[in-house]
Amino acid sequence: MTDFDTEKTYTLDDLGKVDFGGTPLAVLGHPIQHSVSPAMQNAAIEKMCQLNSRFNDWTYFRFDVAAEDLERALPLFHKNSFLGLNLTIPHKVHAMDLIKGVSPDGERMGAVNTLVWDEFGYDGFNTDGYGLKMALANDLGVDLKDANVILLGSGGAARAAAVQCVLEGCARLYVGNRTPERLQGLMDVLHAMPGGDCAEAFAISELPENLPEHGVLINATSLGLEASDPAPIDVAQLPLGWKVYDMIYNPAATTLLETARARGMAVANGLSMLVHQGARSLAIWSHVDVDAHVMMLAACRALKYPPRYD
Ligand code: NAP
Repeated sequence: MTDFDTEKTYTLDDLGKVDFGGTPLAVLGHPIQHSVSPAMQNAAIEKMCQLNSRFNDWTYFRFDVAAEDLERALPLFHKNSFLGLNLTIPHKVHAMDLIKGVSPDGERMGAVNTLVWDEFGYDGFNTDGYGLKMALANDLGVDLKDANVILLGSGGAARAAAVQCVLEGCARLYVGNRTPERLQGLMDVLHAMPGGDCAEAFAISELPENLPEHGVLINATSLGLEASDPAPIDVAQLPLGWKVYDMIYNPAATTLLETARARGMAVANGLSMLVHQGARSLAIWSHVDVDAHVMMLAACRALKYPPRYD
């Protein structure tokens, strides 16, 4: 057995060869080498150790696991006593069929990003919706209850966001997506939820008409991940009282955010969502309050952002 290195990206071949310590945690994804989750989570764990020695042997790692390897990976992590796993692209949906239990929110969102070990297997949760709710409140002062929301996208992140909006009791939820079939699948889920009749679909090429004066537009498409990507909609069509949230945090400012900011609109990127979904995962594993500020500072360092102290 060799000692672990939290900077390293591990593979399944390392399980059984490396000593990952007493209470290992990990994020699994592909690609994964640029994930800032280990930096964020290990910073929070370090803080938790100052208050409670039971966390002294907790460490969080990153593992590169390809889509086709998840089925064989989960029993290996279980056997090696990984207490908690985070799942990112491409595993969040497939994992639902491979674990023994899924939380009600995870079921509705159709995806899980947080797995918790017990002796019989892993149970799955979804903390993305919670992360978004906290990010909108902290960064933009938006309370989803009674809010008007335009949501762009119908993939995993958009599904979590849409379900969270309905759970929180938003006033109107307009959802647009490039592929109509995927959009319809999400609308079916929302309309089956109590309060889901607030949701209506629109074609992403054209914003809904007669929008209220105030609301929040959330980009949950991957358009913007490349610096040269155009904005998914024309923000000039939005009333100036609207705020704009982009789930993308790398690059720090997408074309959508830059054009909205240039119009004087309040904007925020996805960093805070990332931090709060991670803080919630750690709280699920540890059953203690987690310091999201420490995670924010660590994420800023890892992403080479200027430090944020909120
Ligand atoms: P996903 O499941 O692959 O969904 C991608 C979405 O983007 C789909 O709705 C897709 O539309 C749309 N899309 C892709 N290319 C497009 C284009 N050229 N024009 C218009 N729409 C396009 O991905 P995901 O997991 O939901 O992630 C979506 C975004 O959220 C990513 O940028 C991801 O980095 C970000 N995210 C951030 C956080 C955070 O914590 N901040 C968490 C999760 C995800 P179609 O259905 O038409 O293909």
